[in-house]
Amino acid sequence: MKKLLFLLFIPFLSYSQQGNISETLFAQYENYKETSLAKKKFTHSDITPLIEKLKSEDTFRIKELGTSIQNRSISMISIGSGKTSVLLWSQMHGNESTATMAMFDIFNYLKQHEEIFKNLTLHFIPMLNPDGAQHFKRRNAIGIDINRDALSLQSPESKILKDARDSLQADFGFNLHDQSIYYNAERTDKPATISYLAPAYDYEKNINKTRGNAMKVIVEMNNIIQQYAPGQVGRYSDDFEPRAFGDNIQKWGTSTILIESGGYHNDPEKQFIRKLNYVSILSAIASISTKKYETIPIKKYNEIPRNDTKLFDLKLKNLSFPYLGKDYLVDIGINYMEVINKNNQDYKITGIIREMGDLSTYYGYENIDAENLNFKIGKTYPTILSDIDDFKKLNIKDLLNQGYTTIAFENLPEEIIFENYPIKIISIKDILITRDNTIPRPPIEFGKKPTFILTKNDEVFYVIIEGNVYNFTEEAK
Ligand SMILES: [Zn+2]
Repeated sequence: MKKLLFLLFIPFLSYSQQGNISETLFAQYENYKETSLAKKKFTHSDITPLIEKLKSEDTFRIKELGTSIQNRSISMISIGSGKTSVLLWSQMHGNESTATMAMFDIFNYLKQHEEIFKNLTLHFIPMLNPDGAQHFKRRNAIGIDINRDALSLQSPESKILKDARDSLQADFGFNLHDQSIYYNAERTDKPATISYLAPAYDYEKNINKTRGNAMKVIVEMNNIIQQYAPGQVGRYSDDFEPRAFGDNIQKWGTSTILIESGGYHNDPEKQFIRKLNYVSILSAIASISTKKYETIPIKKYNEIPRNDTKLFDLKLKNLSFPYLGKDYLVDIGINYMEVINKNNQDYKITGIIREMGDLSTYYGYENIDAENLNFKIGKTYPTILSDIDDFKKLNIKDLLNQGYTTIAFENLPEEIIFENYPIKIISIKDILITRDNTIPRPPIEFGKKPTFILTKNDEVFYVIIEGNVYNFTEEAK
């Protein structure tokens, strides 16, 4: 009796393990996270010691494939010896690091879970563009976009990827990127936190077995991401780009899956998105290993919503502002930008109006409806300050209540230029420039950093200082 139960239990257990692998990966992620990579900006010298450490583990085989233009090593980490081969490469664009972080999490997991790849040989190339990563820039050291160099092969980084693909004749390829955080899932306010593409291999967008298999794996990954970021998956346009790697690797016979990590609310360092990469890539690897993906109908791929670009950091709607004696009702879309100081060690955030007018088809990570609020053009505080001590004596909130949004200094003190205060700080020279006899400019302008006040019953509700919103509604009560 005992033996019978045991036999019955085994297939049940293995089935349920398969079904729940993504849940387990998600729940136990912190045990495997590579904690030395904690922010999205890191360089080749941060990953080199991690790769060195892998050399001492029996699980991994490390091969230096070559070097970048500026002589940084590019390595491939291989695991397993199964029949099906999978090649994954990340960060061919130097400022797209989310999947590189996830790869090092995946190594920590694979060290302890050999069962997941028993039918597979896995090959990882983390940070294909280390020269770009050095400055967190998209292109390589000679300014070439590696993802348009698949045919011309002028960059050593491109040759390395092509040679790896050709020598391995990989069955599956994962092309790992980051996309703009302003992408959304079509006709929804949800950011496209993850977007997928099974790239086309011809202008006609035909689907052969190679591309079909990529589509099936994507459908499975989409189902997983939907559990953790509902509605936040987009499907990239499959217009054929004859120069791109994804399209060509598909053409050369490797089922290619493009993963683009986008934005997620309150995740500027992309640490949650990194976790989603970890969970979905490992789940996909498991599915390729068991061939579970083969049962998925290809038509499900087209049911994933398309990517769109209709998201702003802040959407402010129903803003009624005065200009030359008339009021105009507009929505504005603001995107934030880092302004870096000259030592490259500090930055502040400012917001720029990227679109204005009727934005009823657009969305914001943050939203403010100004319908019942009054627009007030801020004034400049009449006293010109001479030093930081004068500034410290002022009560900023009182000034805002009196309608002042700007303080002028004779000479800008270095220590406050890169601070974000709920008041705009300028130099007296900036005032002189605007004093001329031409027609005044509107109080908010496309492409500029807006500063104004929104009030209700003469109380300050919101102050917008160079695109940053300060919410006074709680205190106003
Ligand atoms: Zn990219």
